Formats: sequence, structure tokens, C-alpha cells
Amino acid sequence: MSKNASIDTKALISAARKVRRNAHAPYSKFRVGAALLSEKGQIFIGANVENASYPEGICAEGAAIAAMVAAGHKSIKAIAIAAEPSVPPCGGCRQKITEFAAGDSLIILVGAVGKSSQSDTIANLLPHAFHSTRIKSSA
Ligand code: ZN
Repeated sequence: MSKNASIDTKALISAARKVRRNAHAPYSKFRVGAALLSEKGQIFIGANVENASYPEGICAEGAAIAAMVAAGHKSIKAIAIAAEPSVPPCGGCRQKITEFAAGDSLIILVGAVGKSSQSDTIANLLPHAFHSTRIKSSA
């Protein structure tokens, strides 16, 4: 049994869809919710927060990661991302997830409703990732 078999994906998906409703997306109208499961078994949520100064907006995944770190957790077992239509994380968020996830950590993509979901690993979504180990090895 893989370690991912113990992950309650339904709870993560439900949390991601629920927080998506709170997204602040008056400009793009594209709401995104993210819910991640930390290594300690706690779920952290985030929604995208847009800004009139567009580059200052933040993604749902980054918001969830910030909440996790603020609570003292440092490792992501899985993250569900809800949008309509479903989308994979942007390049920047793949890097942010990589900072706290093992290569086989699950990325679960879902739409706003329905049962269909798509799962992949962060290693597949961001091959040849830039890790802290690369910095240490060059010191
Ligand atoms: Zn992003």
C-alpha cells in the first residue's frame, strides 16, 4: 500500500471547493480554492486573492502554504486545487509546493462540482525542480 492510500482525498476536495467560494477574484472572475494536508494530518486552506495592482495578487496554493507555515507545519502530503474548469498549479506555485513536498506528494485537480478528479505528483508537474539541496551542494 502506498503512503498516499491513507489520504482522505474527499475531505481535501471538499475543503478546496468550499474555500474557493471565498476567493477575491473581481478582475478575472476565476476563483480558485486550495486545501493541503500537512504531514501532521491537518488541513490548511487558501483562496486566490486578486488586487487592483494585478501583480500583487496571490494564488490559492500559496495562500494555503502560508497558512500551513504560520501554524508551524513544514510538509505537504497532498494538495487539492478546485477551479472551474479545473487547472493545474501555475509554475510559481509548483515551485512553492516543491519547497514543502516530497516528489510523490499528490496534486489533486477538481472542478467546482462533480466526482471527476485528476491526480498527479509534484515531481511530474515540476521535473528537475530547484530544491534547497541544490543550494547546499554548491556551498
Ligand atoms: Zn499559482
